Amino acid sequence: MSIQLLPEQLASQIAAGEVVERPSSVVKELVENAIDAGATTINVDVQNGGRQLIQVADNGSGISADDIEKAFLRHATSKLETADDLKAILTLGFRGEALSAIAAVSQVTVVSRVTGEEAGTRLSLDGGVKISRETVGAPQGTVIAVENLFYNVPARLKFLKSITTEKRLIDEFVTRYALAYPRIRFRLTHNGRVTFQSNGNGNLLDVLVAVYSPETARQLLQVIEEEEESGAQREERRPVGVSGYVGPPSLHWSNRSHITLFVNGRWIRDNSLTYAIIQAYHTLLPSGRYPLAILFVTMAARDVDVNVHPAKTEVRFRHPKVAFGAVQRAVRQTLVADAPIGNMSAWSLGSQIESVSVNWSGSPGRDAFTRREETAAQSEWEWPTSTAGGDDAVVAQPATLPVADLEEAEQMPIMRVVGQVGASYIITEGPDGMFLISQQAAHERILYEQIVAQWQAGEVTSQELEAGTALHLSPSQTTLLEGALSALATLGFQVDPFGPNAFMVRAVPAILERQDPAQALLDLVADLEGNSPPQDELEARIVKRICKTAAVKTGHSLTMPQMQKIVQQLEACQAPQTCPEGRPTFIHLSVAQLARQFGRS
Ligand code: ADP
Ligand code: MG
Repeated sequence: MSIQLLPEQLASQIAAGEVVERPSSVVKELVENAIDAGATTINVDVQNGGRQLIQVADNGSGISADDIEKAFLRHATSKLETADDLKAILTLGFRGEALSAIAAVSQVTVVSRVTGEEAGTRLSLDGGVKISRETVGAPQGTVIAVENLFYNVPARLKFLKSITTEKRLIDEFVTRYALAYPRIRFRLTHNGRVTFQSNGNGNLLDVLVAVYSPETARQLLQVIEEEEESGAQREERRPVGVSGYVGPPSLHWSNRSHITLFVNGRWIRDNSLTYAIIQAYHTLLPSGRYPLAILFVTMAARDVDVNVHPAKTEVRFRHPKVAFGAVQRAVRQTLVADAPIGNMSAWSLGSQIESVSVNWSGSPGRDAFTRREETAAQSEWEWPTSTAGGDDAVVAQPATLPVADLEEAEQMPIMRVVGQVGASYIITEGPDGMFLISQQAAHERILYEQIVAQWQAGEVTSQELEAGTALHLSPSQTTLLEGALSALATLGFQVDPFGPNAFMVRAVPAILERQDPAQALLDLVADLEGNSPPQDELEARIVKRICKTAAVKTGHSLTMPQMQKIVQQLEACQAPQTCPEGRPTFIHLSVAQLARQFGRS
């Protein structure tokens, strides 16, 4: 079909609007034209984020010498003839607007030759005005070079983002189309450097490897075709096909940008279908996390209206519910096939979690969460624990110790560690929002409950020091320490007088094994100097000092397993909200609070 001007009435039926917003929209329109022209190779070359040059070369059908100037007129298209055609669009383009809009705001040179014609044509335009035209030798296909975009629209130029941002948007468009058309060989260069290419062998998995990392691509699940079902349902579903790949629930991101949707080979944005995918992951992902999905939805052209938005990235479905249901079912079915549904809630929360239901008072969605069955004392990593001991271990005798803060039995939700900030605070996500945990306060709380539990059971383990450590004090300090010796003994210390104002430390609580014993006692004495407690509170004071000494400090970088261990042990505490001194161990920011802070409530 040759290029013709659309009748005025039809042209007005077509939603008008700005097509060229930024360099990536030029790339999109030119690549779509190349795909419509049946190209099997598309090369995109970009200079300076597309401001200086965007060149798209294809080996498609080409534009004939007779048509080449017409192609740059507004509403000139070879893809649409009558208003009826608009009801069932089979091509990516159909408005005949892109080339004219691009040419109006840049300097364009096109070289094209169709099969059967001996020579090609080169046409140059400046701001939409023809500059030159000549007959040239050219390979079959079309090369369009768009230079100095928006050179004549300074206002537009001002609104362009950084070169890096424009480059990223271009990358996104090209990789999207490479995913949707694995039979087309794409190559993208920025300033002469190849940043992406696909091999055009038709294998989507190969493109996925090129777009995502091989690591990510390897984990993706191929969306499976639905089983045959009873007549009525089959009737209802037949119109919509769903294929592609989705990530396992273990792959998740903080936003929806990894959800990519195509309808009949066109990349679209669609809140409803995106939500259908998210719904399919219901209960499988931590809250506020989103999956990866590349889905190709197919349906009769008549069932989808693509003439909704100038950029053609929004569509309207004739049967939105059918499309929604088909997508949701296909994704869910793929996930279920990958892992039996019965295991899903435990599986999504991490493999270490046992399925013991949580008794976590007053919080939304508590039934969905499970609680770990690990006692606070089971510590596998290199931090001090009170279960160390062995042959040298001596069981100390219990004495009185106030345990008032253990009476409140509030529990913490299961949390996922996100990271560490300032080498001091652990960031986690719980069932309702975000937690900032003071690593020091939390670890003090953990150790405190461990020691108190051991002390109550009469099992505080003590570690003998191979060579004792000598401790020299002032006379007044000596008096204080002498007064604390029996209390120290019940908590695993063995401290003997060793001449005037001197002591020999022979054993310490196992939890302090890796600490400097003399320093620990000096700190304790300093505590007692500041505020000498009555005898019956002495043990509590000593326990707090032991915890302070043994706990990880603020300003200390932690590994992921170390942070997970702290969070897990804090969750197991009876009073996780405060450190032994009564200061908070964490700050909670609920999803609602976050939304309010961002003005989105
Ligand atoms: P549309 O794609 O909506 O038809 P465009 O302005 O993008 O409008 O293009 C106008 C016409 O120019 C197209 O209909 C097509 O006939 C022709 N054309 C544009 N680019 C190419 C190409 N790369 N190969 C062949 N023909 C093209
Ligand atoms: Mg087009």
